[in-house]
Formats: sequence, structure tokens, C-alpha cells
Amino acid sequence: MMVKIILNGKETEVPDGKPLIEFLREITHVPGFCYTEELDPYGSCRLCLVSTPRGVTTSCTLKPMEGLSVETLTDEVVSMRKTALELILSDHYGDCIGPCQDGCPAHSDVQGYLALIAMGKYHEAVKLMKEKYILPAVLGRVCPAFCEEACRRNLVDEPLAIRQLKRFAADYDLEHGPWIPEIPPSTGKRIAVVGGGPAGLACAYYLRTMGHEVTIFEAMPELGGMMRYGIPPYRLPRDVLDKDIATVIETGIEVKTNTALGRDVTLDELMEKYDAVFLGVGAWKSRRMGIPGEELEGVMHGIEFLRMVNTGEEVKLGERVIVVGGGNTAMDVARTALRLGAKVTVVYRRSKAEMPANEREVEEAIEEGIEFLFLTNPVRILGDGKVEEVELIKMRLGEPDASGRRRPIPIEGSEFRVKADNVILAIGQYCDEEFLRSLGIEAKRGKAIVDDVTLQTNLPGVFAGGDLVLGPSTVIESIATGRRAAIMIDLYLKGKLEKAREVLLEPEKHIEEVLNDEDLYRVLFDLRPYNHWKKATEKDYEHVERRPRAKVELLDPEVRKQNFEEVEPPLTEEQVLEEAKRCMSCGCMEVFRCKLREYATLYNARQDAFEGEGNRFELDESHPFVTLDNNKCVLCGQCVRFTHEVAGEGVVDYMFRGFKTMISPPLGDTLGDAEGLFIGEMTDLCPVGAITEKLPFLKPGPWKTTPVKTVCNGCSFACEMNIEVYDGMLVRASRVEEGWNGHLCDVCRFMRPWAEDLAGPLLNGEPVSWEEARRFIAERDYALILTPELTNEEIAFFKEFAEKRGIPIGSTVEGGLSTATFEDIRKAKRVLLKADPEKYPLLKLLLKDKDVVEEDYEVAILEGPAEPLEAPTLILHEGVNAAGLIRAGIVGIPESKAYVVIGRAERELDGDVLVLPAGLWAAKEGTITNAFGMELEVKKVVEGYSPLELFS
Ligand code: FAD
Repeated sequence: MMVKIILNGKETEVPDGKPLIEFLREITHVPGFCYTEELDPYGSCRLCLVSTPRGVTTSCTLKPMEGLSVETLTDEVVSMRKTALELILSDHYGDCIGPCQDGCPAHSDVQGYLALIAMGKYHEAVKLMKEKYILPAVLGRVCPAFCEEACRRNLVDEPLAIRQLKRFAADYDLEHGPWIPEIPPSTGKRIAVVGGGPAGLACAYYLRTMGHEVTIFEAMPELGGMMRYGIPPYRLPRDVLDKDIATVIETGIEVKTNTALGRDVTLDELMEKYDAVFLGVGAWKSRRMGIPGEELEGVMHGIEFLRMVNTGEEVKLGERVIVVGGGNTAMDVARTALRLGAKVTVVYRRSKAEMPANEREVEEAIEEGIEFLFLTNPVRILGDGKVEEVELIKMRLGEPDASGRRRPIPIEGSEFRVKADNVILAIGQYCDEEFLRSLGIEAKRGKAIVDDVTLQTNLPGVFAGGDLVLGPSTVIESIATGRRAAIMIDLYLKGKLEKAREVLLEPEKHIEEVLNDEDLYRVLFDLRPYNHWKKATEKDYEHVERRPRAKVELLDPEVRKQNFEEVEPPLTEEQVLEEAKRCMSCGCMEVFRCKLREYATLYNARQDAFEGEGNRFELDESHPFVTLDNNKCVLCGQCVRFTHEVAGEGVVDYMFRGFKTMISPPLGDTLGDAEGLFIGEMTDLCPVGAITEKLPFLKPGPWKTTPVKTVCNGCSFACEMNIEVYDGMLVRASRVEEGWNGHLCDVCRFMRPWAEDLAGPLLNGEPVSWEEARRFIAERDYALILTPELTNEEIAFFKEFAEKRGIPIGSTVEGGLSTATFEDIRKAKRVLLKADPEKYPLLKLLLKDKDVVEEDYEVAILEGPAEPLEAPTLILHEGVNAAGLIRAGIVGIPESKAYVVIGRAERELDGDVLVLPAGLWAAKEGTITNAFGMELEVKKVVEGYSPLELFS
């Protein structure tokens, strides 16, 4: 029966008598944690609120009435849902993502790629990195590694050597055929990218991955920007830079080098010929000191000096070089001048502790013999046409300035002079404001002005990123803006830029639009996902084993200062695998499936909206396959209700009352004590990562998996299930809620029969080579024995093969087929049971509320081999496709002196027996027939060996 209601202003037919949410969930967005079709409404989370003329109410408890008016996304409803979410978040304690990911300016999935590296999956790790940044081999050498600063391991011993791990994986990828993304068909849109530094390259790459046509205009003879013309090769070898850049260009990017905007091409031309323009021209203007003598011969500016050396131009340096500055450029200048044979002194106006240069760079410079004069500043440069001396003044530190560092103040009368042949000023860079203004682009304080969210300049369709927008920054920060600009340009080309901007600023005001527009959804969850943090201290990690960080020995300073060879060697593979294991996998295992995070992102909910005392619970890790973390539990009750009311196992319950309420096995017990066949189902039901599966990997990710619907091969029920796969890795099984079975037992989930196969052929129980197996098949007279691990199509193939060659064929299966349907069993009240529910766990759910009897039964359930009784009979054979074999008429073992068995044979056979792997279940494609006679589809999840290969 249907009733008519007015849903969001439209007359709509909805089913009568059922909670409204059941209908709403199918057609429109209504959040909620606690509602499940199988059980009565519960209404605990208060998220599924809707507005009716009688007020706002939960739709899981609302039964529709004729003419009822319901609004699902009014301001009031959104605001109340947001409040409900914030209340939940105020006592939800855990990290969504690892602090490393948050610390990375590109927000790359550090935990995910470290997990892949830990398993030696280097290509896959690089592929994951490239979702958020390009040039991993460059970054593996020069990145300041903000991720390491944020690493939680800092609270234990030392941060993970993430940069070095990245370098190893990236070098491996470059050496073994780099991963290049597949490019979708052309959108026909053309974008001009001006500047081939990291920002321009990133923008170009990500635009290409969206199918746009891209041309890079680069003023210099080669691509790379400051990576090539600034960073010296002893830190970044040029062959590495070239190879890394090639992986970007090979996506199909057109490159025009020696082509400068403003000199060879105008912005108007670009705006006319292209659909959008990105400017990534960097900050190449050197800051001047404004002191007397700055124009003397022998005075240079840091980046000009480096550019000349890096392009092979002749640079004449005298014996004594003074380098002014305390940043990374100053360190590169000093160490480069040293390698050219000069005696180098760095003059810096603050103390060593205030130096903005990377600590590593400073230490390496000191090791190489560079002198430092701290708290000293040049006052003037003296000489007769050419530098001869520098007058310096001593400084002291005053109060902190705008940068947070203490202001250097000259000490009057402390001037002194030092002899010098050259002075190289490396005190900062900025962008060429005049140049920008000549293009019509607004600029201020050495940076182009852009919209913070969209990176669009004052000229519509002209975007900017990198140092040009940030001021002197880093490769990773520039790449991050390049990628963001690519996303924004794509939205601009689709006419959605303004809307995306509004969404990113106030998502909760645009929920409907976000949910109805893939692009808006993607940009919100990519650039502004909700993240939750624990306030962790050293105390939280007292139990963690202390393990030293992997280290490398740099080249001997005496040797390295003589040349431009790379100073830092890589870690060995052994070190890499060990180091990756130090990762504590801080981020939540359910981050990609968490409903709470999804809703919090959509509703712009905040963790700290409600301050107050929070619960802290101990993790229950006692179960071999499941972790229970009450810190994340939102008390939606799905697990409790499922385990009691559906599975009948009562594994967990609510403990204590009020604010302290938690989910737990009965008092005193832990999950490890629990007995059940559907404990794993709670990991699927939990919407927030409080109950998670322990995955059988060295490091469990998490990774964003794709569910592929197939069937389980654990028993002859052949339950429909998803295999969740990530880049060829079989990560986990999950239930198909709408599948015929609707649930998934722990055998399928934890024993993973779908991810297992024999390693290779066995002859009389001993492993033999494939060559020997082939010889056996070619030379021996044998009978072919099939097992229920084969699909119907494979069975048909072998049947035809055997018939054509006159080979006797049989199978490990005997007995008859079921006569009962699923409906027969479901409806029956009195059942004869001669099968073991431990072996066929779904029986446990099917038998719930039925009487198991010996007589007057409505249906019988037997274990094969057996023949049907008079009443409808379900016969459960071993193996998934026994019914397929019986239907094909392949039953029993024929007489023979030798056998070739496809798949594992449970029975002993007389004579020589060659057992061949049946093929990984997750690599099969076809159909099987389950014990109810249902023909079900088996889907290929990954590529793999097929037993047909040997017989084709
Ligand atoms: P750039 O890299 O500057 O690239 C701009 C590009 O635009 C150049 O190729 C330039 O030729 C081109 N261009 C300029 N004008 C035009 C025009 N009119 N028409 C066409 N093309 C034009 N970062 C780190 O992460 N780690 C480090 O160790 C590190 N060391 C550094 C050392 C030095 C000496 C310097 C100077 C910088 C260092 N950086 C480091 C910073 C990093 O290199 C920059 O932040 C980054 O390269 C900026 O990228 P970008 O694409 O914005 O600009």
C-alpha cells in the first residue's frame, strides 16, 4: 500500500506503514547511523531529522500519513543535524588521518603509501603519492618533510624517515618503468601554463589527468624552475630531475621552452587562444640590502649566482667569499662557492637558532668547513671599483618581530672589517610586481594577489600558484597550489567555479547541490574533508617499542666539498622495509568509509563546538581479527542490535549508564572471549570505525578500496559479497546488504578463501615445476578430476576437453541436488537438521526462530553426499560449486592409475596424483550454482592464473 505525501514541495508516493526514512534513504539524502531495515527504528543519533508541520522529528520513527508535508533540508533541519553531529563529535576521540598527512602541504596519503612501501609495493606507493603530488624522486631528496615534523613518532623516539622512504620508492619506480596515469579522452579544452617549475608542472599534469590539452610556456631553455636553476646538483642530481619531469610531460603535455611571457608571447594572446591560463612564474627577483658598495664588481645575488653555476656559465670567484643570509638559498650559495674553490664565510644577523635554513643544510655546511658569523650584518662593502672588504656590525636580539623571531638590533660602535673578494647576497626573493602589473595582474608585497579559495587572479580565467602567490616557498607547497589551481581551472571550464568557492566556504549551505553534483562533491571532499584529532601526549605512547630511525652516512665532507656529486646516499631496501614498519598507522582504518566524517564534512560540523569532559576507553585488541575502540563509538547501537536480534550471538552489549556508556562483551569479558560466527559483520555495520577489522597485511593501510560484487567460495551457500580491492590488492570482504543472503560470516571474512590458491602443482603431495606438470599431462594416461572450486564455464570446458580426448572425467562430489528453495527454508518453522552450522554459518541465521525436529518437519537440511528426502531438502555439499558439477553429470571418481585433479582434493586417490591449482577465486569470471540451485555471478576482481591455460 502506498500513501501520498508532499516531499520537499512535490507530491510523492511512499510505502505505507514503514518508517519514512526507509523511503527517503533511497531517493534523497537523509543522514543517520542507527536505522537498519532488518530491525525496528531506534532513533538514537537524531541525524535523520526532517521538518513536518508538527515540527522537526526523526524520520526513522515517522510513519507517513496521507497528505503529510515533509521537508528534508530546511535551514532548521540542517542546523539541528549539525548540532547533533557536533555533540557526537565532542566525545569521539581518535585521528581520522595521520598527522603526517595533515602536515603535508599536499595532504598526500602518507600512511597509505608507507603501508605499501612496507610491503615492497613501490610502484603502487608512487601511484598513491601521485594522487596528490608529482616529482616524488625530487621531493625524496629536497623536501623539508613537513610530514616528519608532524609524525607522532616524535612522541616516542624519532620521526619516521618518510622523505628517504619516498625517495627509495620513487627511484625504484623510475628505474623499473615509471607509472604514468591513463589519460581520459580529450575534453577539447586548452590551457596555457606559464612557467615550468613545480607549480606549473603540477598544474599541467593534473589538468592532463582530467583530459584537458595543456601547453607549458617556459622562458628558460629547460623545465624545472628553481629545482634546476636554484637547487645545486649535489642535493638534486640532474638525471633524477630530468627523469621525474619526463613522467609529467609523457602524459601528453606540449612544451615550449625559450618562450617567455611578455617577451615572446603576450597574456592577451594566451587568453585569446586558450580557454584558461595558469601563471607559475615563481619569485626570481632578489632582495637588495640597500647598503653602500652593493654595485661594486664582485657583488652578486644568490639566485643569479646559482643560475649561472647551474647553467654552466663561467663564474669568476675570488679566494674569499662572504655570503649574506640565513636561509636555504644562502646555504646553497655557500656550499656551491665552496665547491668552486673559495673560502666561504656566512654572515647572518640573528643567531643559529633563528636561521630559517633547514637544520640539516646548516649542519652539512658546517661539516664542509664553511664559517659562520652569527649576530652580524654588513653595513657597507668597500673597494676600488671591485670588492675588497666588507664592514660588518655586531647585532643583539630584541623583542620578537612579525615573523615571531627576535628582532636583530645593531650594537653601536661594534663595526669591524673583513677582507673579501666577493659578496653574495642571499637575503630573499620576491616576484616581479612590475611585470605582473604590465600584464594587468594585481600584486602586493612581492606576491600576485589571488582569491584564497580559487587561486584566480583579478583577470577571469587567469589563475596563479607557486612562489608567485606564496612568496619563496618549497617544492611541495608549490606543487600543492599547482594541483589546486588545476582543480579550480577544471571547475572554471565547467562554469562551476563560483559555486565551488561557495561550497568550500560554507558547505552546510549547499548540501543538496553538493550531493547532486559530482564535481562539487569531489572538490569538497578533496580540499576540505573533515578531520578529527586526538590530543596525544608522550604518555599515550609509553607502551610503544623504541626503535631508532634509519640513517645514512653522508659522503665524507672532505671528499664531497670537492665536487657536485650527490651528498646523501639512499637507504638500502632492507633499511626501507624495516623503517616503514616503524609507522604507527595513526589514522583511522575506516577513514574512507566513515559516515561520521562524511556527514561532518557535508554539514561543516566542528569537533570543538561543544567543549567538556570526554571519555577515554582502552582499546580491546583481544580478538584475532577485530579491534573494538570505544573512543570512536557513537552509541548508534547497530552492533548490539545485530548481534542480539539478527545473529543471536549477543557478542556485545551496552555497559554502564549515561555518559559513561560503552559497548563491550559481558562484564569482565573481552572480544577475544566472544564466540560467534558473525562477529565480523559488526565491522561492516559500524558507521564510524569503532569496530574495525584487523587486516592480514604487514601494515593495513587504510586504502580507498573499490567493492566488486561477487560470491564467496567458502561453502555451497555461495553468499553474495563484495571483495574490496585496492590497486590489485585483495583488501577485505564486505557484505552486500541487498544480496540474497544479506550477511557475511566470519569464515568468508577472516579465513579469506577467495584470496587463496595452491602455490603450484603437487605430484603425489610434493611440489613440482609447471614443466613437470605439463609433461605429466602430455605423457600420462590419466583421469581428470574436477573439484567444486571451478565455475560452470570451467566445468563445461573440461567436460568438452575430456570428451574430445576420451579422457575419463569425474569429480570429488557425490550425491544428489537440493529440492528446497531459499524461500522454502526461510518460511519453514520445523526443520530437520543434519548439517553443522559451524561449517555452514549462514544456517545459524536461517534457523533463527525455527524448531529443529526429527519428525514432522517442513524442510530438511542435510550435509552431502546425500539424496533428497520427501520434504523439500537442502543438501549442503563441500565446496562452492558442487551443484554445478552434479548438474553437469560429473560425479564420483573413475578408475584410473593416474589422476589430474583441478583444485584441492579432499579425498585420497590411488595411483599417481597431479594436483593443479584451481586458480585464485578472486581472479575467476563466470557463474556457479549454489546449494539452492541459484545461478550466481562470479566476478573477476584481479588478474590471475587460470587452470584452462594448461589444457588449451
Ligand atoms: P619556479 O620554480 O621559480 O619556476 C618558475 C618558472 O617560471 C621557471 O622555470 C621560470 O623560468 C619560468 N618563468 C619565469 N618567468 C617566465 C615568463 N615570463 N615566461 C615563461 N616562463 C617564465 N624547495 C624545497 O622544497 N626544497 C629545497 O631544498 C629547496 N631549495 C631551494 C634552493 C634555492 C636556491 C631556491 C632558490 C629555492 C629552493 N627551494 C627549495 C624552493 C623551491 O625551489 C621553490 O619554492 C619552487 O621551485 C617554486 O616553484 P614555482 O613553480 O612556483 O617557481
